[in-house]
Amino acid sequence: MAKACKATNAGIRCHDLPEGADPPPGWTRMTDEQCESLGGSRSLSSRIPHTARFAPIALSDPIDEVEESALSDPLELVRIPDGINEGLSSPKNSTMLQILGMPRDHVDNKCRMPTNLPLAELIVTKNVGPFRVTGLKPAVKSLKKIFKKVEKDHPELYSQLGTAGMTCVRYIRNSNRLSNHSWGCAIDVKIGAVLDGIQYPGAGEDGVTLAGLVTLSEYFHKEGWYWGVGFSSFEDGMHFEIADETLRQWRSDGTLGEDVKARSLSKPVLSLGDRGKDVKELQQLLLQKGYDVMVDGHFGPITHAIVIDFQARVGLTPDGLVGEKTMKALLE
Ligand SMILES: [Zn+2]
Repeated sequence: MAKACKATNAGIRCHDLPEGADPPPGWTRMTDEQCESLGGSRSLSSRIPHTARFAPIALSDPIDEVEESALSDPLELVRIPDGINEGLSSPKNSTMLQILGMPRDHVDNKCRMPTNLPLAELIVTKNVGPFRVTGLKPAVKSLKKIFKKVEKDHPELYSQLGTAGMTCVRYIRNSNRLSNHSWGCAIDVKIGAVLDGIQYPGAGEDGVTLAGLVTLSEYFHKEGWYWGVGFSSFEDGMHFEIADETLRQWRSDGTLGEDVKARSLSKPVLSLGDRGKDVKELQQLLLQKGYDVMVDGHFGPITHAIVIDFQARVGLTPDGLVGEKTMKALLE
């Protein structure tokens, strides 16, 4: 039998889901195996007050009040909303390296602090409200601003905030790419004891996230942070990072110092799997060239195939990588 589950401070709560029924808002469907691997669905199921929760509820039903208060729980699982990260992109390693350089000389899979300049001098440790962090100076300042607003607007959510850290130089697992935590530009936010994305098997690809993170994401978005739940490879719900656009702004307005401002910076090379504003612009150009492409900001297999076709047609190397040459040909 399928289960309906949600994340709570005490772990994952699961309950049998009757044949043909949908999980209620804030709960997610799981298989018996997924539920079992979380450990203890037996003892947890008794906490669910009423199996009627899982039946469709009419608007006039008095149980509505219960549903509403349940929805405001920051730990409820909710669908990932549309339109997140609007106008923002996740910075690529090439951009980070051009702006802030290699964080340290030796890098492996262990978490280490940056030692190279100019980055090392820009890393600070400060209290940002709910906790202390160590990160890039303007990013830390931005966090303080974000959490001050959250404390005022959503004190209950604020009281449950924690972090799994900000600065950590290391490669992303099974890759030779550096995590953006390597430059102190990302933060993993915990609500209660829950880190969304890893709290149960498959949490990084289930299409749901914590209601509290959705609330937080609006504050992060306003300050120019990209929400990792939008990554194409893995829904990293706990993860927020300084967007490409924000970092470029900080570079050009001198926030990161005169040395960084003086560094030259090229547009990022776009490739399969990228998401964001730059991809949208690329798709718009392909559309103008007569290609039937959806302008959704997601550099998926269709966009990739179209790019290769275009490159071959104009006599460029058909490698599917959109750099300066391909961009120039698209603008002609
Ligand atoms: Zn992270």
